[in-house]
Amino acid sequence: MKSPRVLFWYRKDLRIQDNNALIKTLSISKAITSLYIFDRNYPLDFNAKSRAWFLSNSLKELSKTWEGLGSRLIIDEGEPINLIPEIAKIINAKFVAWNKGLEPYEIKRDLQIKNILNELNINVIDCMDHLLVHPNSVSTGDGNPYKVFGPFYKNLESKLTYADVQTEVITKIKLLDLKQETLKNTRLELSNKKLEKFINEINFAGQKMCPCKPGEAAANNLLENFLKSHKINDYENSRDFPSQDGTSYLSGSLRFGTISIRKIWNKSTNLEIENKKHFLSIRTWQKELFWREFYHHCLFHFPELESGPYRQKWKEFPWQNKPEWFNRWSNGDTGIPIIDAAMRQLNQSGWMHNRCRMIVASFLVKDLICNWQMGEKKFLELLVDGDLAANNGGWQWSASSGMDPKPLRIFNPYTQTKKFDPLCEYIKFWVPELSKIPNSQIINGDITSIESVSYPKPLIDHNIQQRFFKSLYAEI
Ligand SMILES: Cc1cc2nc3c(=O)[nH]c(=O)nc-3n(C[C@H](O)[C@H](O)[C@H](O)COP(=O)(O)OP(=O)(O)OC[C@H]3O[C@@H](n4cnc5c(N)ncnc54)[C@H](O)[C@@H]3O)c2cc1C
Repeated sequence: MKSPRVLFWYRKDLRIQDNNALIKTLSISKAITSLYIFDRNYPLDFNAKSRAWFLSNSLKELSKTWEGLGSRLIIDEGEPINLIPEIAKIINAKFVAWNKGLEPYEIKRDLQIKNILNELNINVIDCMDHLLVHPNSVSTGDGNPYKVFGPFYKNLESKLTYADVQTEVITKIKLLDLKQETLKNTRLELSNKKLEKFINEINFAGQKMCPCKPGEAAANNLLENFLKSHKINDYENSRDFPSQDGTSYLSGSLRFGTISIRKIWNKSTNLEIENKKHFLSIRTWQKELFWREFYHHCLFHFPELESGPYRQKWKEFPWQNKPEWFNRWSNGDTGIPIIDAAMRQLNQSGWMHNRCRMIVASFLVKDLICNWQMGEKKFLELLVDGDLAANNGGWQWSASSGMDPKPLRIFNPYTQTKKFDPLCEYIKFWVPELSKIPNSQIINGDITSIESVSYPKPLIDHNIQQRFFKSLYAEI
């Protein structure tokens, strides 16, 4: 058999370039048909308006790319456990290929499908692609998974080999499409309509405001822009200031795999370094890529993180979970300017600056005494880059319920404003009611001209709540 038919199943790797399973598949056959399934059991990919927009536009671009290569992208919806064998049979596939999923649900699903395909004598190709290295390949001296970032980072950095991070460029592929008679199958005929229907239902108003951009071409532009405009050289200074254009906005692209992590890593290691400041900045950025890696490794080794705190004592914490407070936090209506600016950025653009994610998370948990899982869920309802591992990691870090050894970390929203938005530019952009208020009043939390603007009084007093939180914490 010269060119056995292969069904290539896209999941979080929505690209052609440097896609490990696709590269392996191409070495076997040119008769490749690709498939994306809106997996009913994994709505995380599309149950936020921002992610539905990002995903469907990435698929639209990918579909065109596949047509240009002479083949096609089939779109379907339902349960992969039924659909993968069914579609493989329709197209007479001898192989089904995918890149490994690493979340608890994905691992279970993929194993079940692999077993079914084995029974049908269909071969499976599954490759590691989503991270720099497989979580099983990094461990402590005694063979256990790392629980603390510092040593994890040092170990992984020293162990990364050329093979782990080599980037493969695909050029000039000519693929073999399905036969006309196969395409007459009703299931396949409905394919285009499924994407169209999905796109028509999208109702994300933040498309222009969202700094993350869908598709493989846009991901590459974001990377080039970040590296070539030398934003990366100033990252160490600018990354903490939400009013500055200081970060890469690649989180959506990494979430959906419209760019490979290996390419990002390689490009950042091959930059010309002019001085120590640049060197430190690049390393700081690479460290963030390792945080992503760390949280994915943690979830892989400790799947229980998905459903609750790593530190068991937090299960007994007497959360107050006041619905009114949670709603005001969610809507950016707390009367605490930095919190409101950040939550409005999230609501309106589907993205929030990292510094602000930490500030609003600390505030929800330690000032409003709401269970961090409420915030985790809210973020996943809105974030364009909403990702189980990174989001859970970020929330557990902020709540002090995770692996991080520092037990209690409380951010003062006003001190954070003074440090990271000293001119209140970020606040005034997202909370225009405050545009005429003197910066000193915003920073001190003492907006005396409050009657002249339609802005609420602070929902709580940070100092009082902080003491209250500490007293509750002492009980556990
Ligand atoms: C409470 C909370 C929730 C978060 N939820 C998510 C989430 O759902 N999805 C998500 O991708 N990130 C999440 N983060 C991490 C971080 O805020 C975003 O990755 C970052 O803001 C994305 O912007 P950027 O692409 O411009 O990042 P850059 O600063 O340019 O960083 C480059 C890449 O490194 C990774 N990265 C950066 N910081 C972190 C971090 N602290 N943890 C893990 N990975 C990181 C991202 O993939 C990012 O695209 C969360 C952080 C917190 C505190």
